[in-house]
Amino acid sequence: MRQRVVITGGAGFLGSHLCDRFLAEGWSVLCVDNLLTGNKDNVAHLMDEEHFSFMEHDVTKFIDIEGSVDAILHFASPASPIDYLELPIQTLKVGSLGTHNALGLARKKGARFLIASTSECYGDPLVHPQTEDYWGNVNPVGPRGVYDEAKRFSEAMTMAYHRYHGVDTRIIRIFNTYGPRMRLDDGRALPAFMSQALSGEPLTVFGDGSQTRSFCYVDDLVEGIWRLLQSGHHTPMNIGNPREMTIREFAEQVIELTGSGSTVSYQALPEDDPKVRQPDISLARAVLGWEPQVQLEDGLRRTLEYFKGRVGGERGE
Ligand code: NAD
Ligand code: UDP
Repeated sequence: MRQRVVITGGAGFLGSHLCDRFLAEGWSVLCVDNLLTGNKDNVAHLMDEEHFSFMEHDVTKFIDIEGSVDAILHFASPASPIDYLELPIQTLKVGSLGTHNALGLARKKGARFLIASTSECYGDPLVHPQTEDYWGNVNPVGPRGVYDEAKRFSEAMTMAYHRYHGVDTRIIRIFNTYGPRMRLDDGRALPAFMSQALSGEPLTVFGDGSQTRSFCYVDDLVEGIWRLLQSGHHTPMNIGNPREMTIREFAEQVIELTGSGSTVSYQALPEDDPKVRQPDISLARAVLGWEPQVQLEDGLRRTLEYFKGRVGGERGE
């Protein structure tokens, strides 16, 4: 019998790639999304697939699904800083009420459950690179707290359902991931830099650009998620690309790749912006035999192809 997965946030950047992967693996996919930060265009190519269906629904409300469900991937949540700063209450609600509802559904259906958590659980980290046993340095009342604490709560809720209700759960801490289907205007570094470079505007580097991030290509992340779901690993696992660079270097890389004449313009650093971020992926290597395969240059090139058709209002793909 064909297995069935429910993907919340399935019309978003990561969720839509997961819909593709699970369909390709022969699963039946139900995408549940309220289109708050996502877009139906991301799954438009799947709408006529026999084993794909779309349900427009806010998962902070009770999730009513008929039939059997084998796995739930809970990815619904605003994810980019400008989104969650603009939608603070929805972000807290989807991390808390939404996670509770999705876990309740997993319990009722006897389904495996995987939550998309984040490297933001480590806040502005005092341990570098970040290992899963580090508890983090989060400002709960700062502007980013709405996202970080929602995710920390969702991890706690997931472990409680695992320990007290025996739900078969997984927690993935995703580090900065990029690729096709990111929203051009989502304010994250990569879409911002690419759209600025393609339109010849200055690249807005926040602060002096010495803060670091480690960027993972979406296909690598999806492979990690696929393997984690098949594993029996219940405690949090980092999935990300350990290649760390400063944001200034990243901006220069985008300028070089696009061949743009853009300059760099330094802007104020947002409050609580983490100074460093790099995943320690020893656990994923040991348990899943996983590590990233896509080099940054290749991933950026593939993403650029996608963005090229979109800057200036056109939509390609
Ligand atoms: P995204 O904004 O593209 O996708 C999120 C999706 O969730 C959107 O389609 C949105 O409409 C949907 N959504 C939001 N609230 C909802 C609600 N109440 N009910 C139903 N649907 C709702 O963002 P993304 O980058 O694809 O992120 C997906 C998940 O991965 C998020 O949970 C995010 O926190 C996590 N994550 C992403 C990254 C990354 O680098 N992209 C890093 C860490 C964690
Ligand atoms: N950033 C930047 N210019 C931008 C957008 C982001 O310099 O136009 C910086 C941001 O301050 C952070 C890093 O790039 O230090 C990554 O930001 P992003 O929003 O992509 O994700 P974060 O890791 O902060 O969640």
